Amino acid sequence: METPSRCRVKFWGVRGSVPVPGPTTVHYGGNTSCLEVRADGELIILDAGTGIRPLGNALSDEFAGKPLELTLLITHTHWDHIQGFPFFHPAYEAKNKVHIIGYEGAKIGLGTTLAGMMESPYFPIALKEMPGNILIEELKDFEFSIGKVRVQAMVVNHPGVAVGYRLFTSGGSIVYIPDNEPFSYDRVADCDTKNRKLIDFIRDADLLVIDSQYDNAEYDAHIGWGHGCLDDTVRIAVTANVKRLFLFHHDPNHDDARVTQMLEHARKIAAKLGGNTIVEAAREGAEIAL
Ligand SMILES: [Zn+2]
Ligand SMILES: [Zn+2]
Repeated sequence: METPSRCRVKFWGVRGSVPVPGPTTVHYGGNTSCLEVRADGELIILDAGTGIRPLGNALSDEFAGKPLELTLLITHTHWDHIQGFPFFHPAYEAKNKVHIIGYEGAKIGLGTTLAGMMESPYFPIALKEMPGNILIEELKDFEFSIGKVRVQAMVVNHPGVAVGYRLFTSGGSIVYIPDNEPFSYDRVADCDTKNRKLIDFIRDADLLVIDSQYDNAEYDAHIGWGHGCLDDTVRIAVTANVKRLFLFHHDPNHDDARVTQMLEHARKIAAKLGGNTIVEAAREGAEIAL
């Protein structure tokens, strides 16, 4: 594999729950969770929502005729984090190696869960028929390495079992927590202590991509659903001295105008809290150099 000269992250899917293509989501994008990380000679993909389909096409073009080795880290097996995998073109090319690492929540094993999604009632090709040398590994250690990239995983608060990942690259550290409901500052006492594990996990990260699906009013109607309230994620990121925060897992009912409005609100909260955290909303196609 070619060694890229710099570390970079690209968003291929930023949406939660279900893909929402169409004219009202063109700016932020309608595909579900998928990030591409190029760092220290490694190609690492975070989640396999529908954004992994266009990523796979781009990789097949880039690596035409050359073997491609990549690692796919899965946070959990809800639809919006795996549904694009059957359409991931590099998994159909025998010259490639696709290493999947993840933690499944259903207690039947990650391999069984992924294969189940491709059984005959749902899909024409079985997982075991994909020629791309797919190796599936259940996450057991919460610290491991992908080449020179050190990885930490943390169990987060989300129905079933879900994890977040922190990648330590030579260009800085990237934290990816697409689905998580932290303790809410407006509703629960002593949140800094209760959210301590999360704050420590993301502390001083260069890039934090985190579930910020609901605003304060929406969160009231969705307490316990496993997704974050914007006001809380901003506060947690500022407390942890994160350099750049990306609001992520946009609600499928939020159009572009609504996401922009939430971003403006998030920036006001960050300004009020002080600190140096830059706040942005994840947008499909956006590329960030580290
Ligand atoms: Zn999700
Ligand atoms: Zn989920």
